[in-house]
Amino acid sequence: MSSTLLRLGLWIILAVVALYVLHETYAGTAVAAYFSMATLQKALVIGGVLVVAGLVTSVFGKGAKAVSKNRCVVCKTPIPPGAIYCRAHLRRVLQVEDDRAHMTHSR
Ligand SMILES: [Zn+2]
Repeated sequence: MSSTLLRLGLWIILAVVALYVLHETYAGTAVAAYFSMATLQKALVIGGVLVVAGLVTSVFGKGAKAVSKNRCVVCKTPIPPGAIYCRAHLRRVLQVEDDRAHMTHSR
């Protein structure tokens, strides 16, 4: 999706550049009237917007992927980045850890 937007935007910019060259080559002739500078500028803006949209969606796609990858080791619940367990399992692990420490201490 994002790569398609990027490619489309780049193709439009390429087409605008090509048309601009044609415009300059045939300046003053009837051909130049077909591609007015206003039309070329509009097409260039559309191409630029498409490229930016493609870049933004690809960045957001990567971000969403990184977030969805981080899940609780036990129950696969999505959790914030950097965490290993969900809230419930983190508490359980800490409890087990606490009990163990308590047992070794009292021994
Ligand atoms: Zn969990």
